[in-house]
Amino acid sequence: MRKRTGSVVCPSCGMLVGVNDAECLNCGRKKPGLWGFAPMLRNLTDLPFPQIVIFACALLYLAMLLYSPGDVQMGGLFSLFSPGSASLFLFGASGSLPVFAYDRWWTPLSATWLHAGALHILFNMMWIRDLAPAIAQLYGSSRMIIIFTVSGVSGFVLSSLMGFLFPFLPRFLSGAQLTVGASASIFGLLGAMIYYQRRAPSRLIGTQAAGFAVVMLVFGLMMPGIDNWAHLGGLGGGFLAAMWMNPLTQERGNHALVAILCLVASAAAIIASVITGLEVLGR
Ligand SMILES: [Zn+2]
Repeated sequence: MRKRTGSVVCPSCGMLVGVNDAECLNCGRKKPGLWGFAPMLRNLTDLPFPQIVIFACALLYLAMLLYSPGDVQMGGLFSLFSPGSASLFLFGASGSLPVFAYDRWWTPLSATWLHAGALHILFNMMWIRDLAPAIAQLYGSSRMIIIFTVSGVSGFVLSSLMGFLFPFLPRFLSGAQLTVGASASIFGLLGAMIYYQRRAPSRLIGTQAAGFAVVMLVFGLMMPGIDNWAHLGGLGGGFLAAMWMNPLTQERGNHALVAILCLVASAAAIIASVITGLEVLGR
């Protein structure tokens, strides 16, 4: 796994450097060979991300159903097979309640991976299966993972803040007390597609994405129980993250490092949620 001889690509500037070089001659980065782990990094981010997301989300959804089977709700099409609030809280739901009343500040990272019903998870996973490969093609798989993570966080931070600061607004504008789902990140992927067209105007991909986003936002305003602030925050976060990582430049090893950090932080947020949540719930 670890490369000990020969040359690798510098994670900062993309030039070839010796794997054991102390410093990149082109850009001055220290230890550009990452102690021999630079090639492994590339392989890691080439893993099939949509499949990993779908598997992890399905596993967590089942775990939430099984944690408290008696609380599972079946009322109405959109709350079919909905885990109870205690399950959602335990595994790392975000919103003004966990973030501000229970100091679970890390939940904007964990909530993306949780879903509140059978249709919720089904629709979101279908979007991810369709959108993630397109974003990986435009931005590279590492930058796609970064956009996915950042937009989930920005969506849930905005929604939790709105729920904390303005709980008196009408329901569709009031932010969320308890909120989960990959849709903030899905809006983030749409935001990244919209940004891409600003850099490469010949590609109409952004027009199409903007159309999807508008339809989904309008739909969200009309449907009860949709976290509109998370969607808007995800759209903005994805757009800004895409802007920050210029898609017309080659993806670098540094992006892979940040992407792995994003995934590790998300996993850590879920684990921290369960460990500390068990104490709060007293089980
Ligand atoms: Zn370099």
